[in-house]
Amino acid sequence: MFNLILFGPPGSGKGTQSERLIARYGLKHLSTGDILRSEIANQTPLGLAAKSIMDKGQLVPDEVVIEMINSALENNPQAKGFLFDGFPRTTAQAEALDKLLNQKGTQIAVVLALQVGKEELVSRLLNRGKTSGRSDDTNESVIRSRIEEYEKKTAVVAEYYSKFNKVVNIKGEGTIDEIFDSLTAEIDSRKG
Ligand code: ADP
Repeated sequence: MFNLILFGPPGSGKGTQSERLIARYGLKHLSTGDILRSEIANQTPLGLAAKSIMDKGQLVPDEVVIEMINSALENNPQAKGFLFDGFPRTTAQAEALDKLLNQKGTQIAVVLALQVGKEELVSRLLNRGKTSGRSDDTNESVIRSRIEEYEKKTAVVAEYYSKFNKVVNIKGEGTIDEIFDSLTAEIDSRKG
């Protein structure tokens, strides 16, 4: 198995690059944001509870997203590998993920961390909000709260994986193709 984490702040391009990476490498895409939005669309109890938190730009509780990832791993026993997008977002989530993967006899191969400046993030997200239908992308103060949550709770996840020498920083500004090429070069050099 080849499992990777695409890491970075909101608006850093994780979703866009994930779509291309799963197509190239045949990985299963696990985006906690996408799973949460589908729970909201289906009006499940979990979705209803998550919506008010997401609308404020805050993080959904660890137990909730860890259980979502646990089920997704269980439901895809045949996967060649997983691409985690928007997860883990806290150190507790990272520790839980390591444990789950360990139980399956596998691990994270690499954490590719997209680097994008803060004002570029805000402008990309406001721009995405014009067409995405995502309510958390239309309000600048919600966008800034999400970036703040990232700085307070999520940035440390990169430090956690750095201890295991798994983090590679990738310049996340430039064309989509340029960034994709940087990501694939790193993956190819590890995949063998
Ligand atoms: P973005 O990276 O653009 O903020 P996501 O789709 O990854 O978008 O996440 C949208 C929202 O869903 C987050 O602001 C947060 O409220 C919630 N969310 C997604 N993933 C997680 C996670 N791993 N832990 C906690 N909350 C999450």
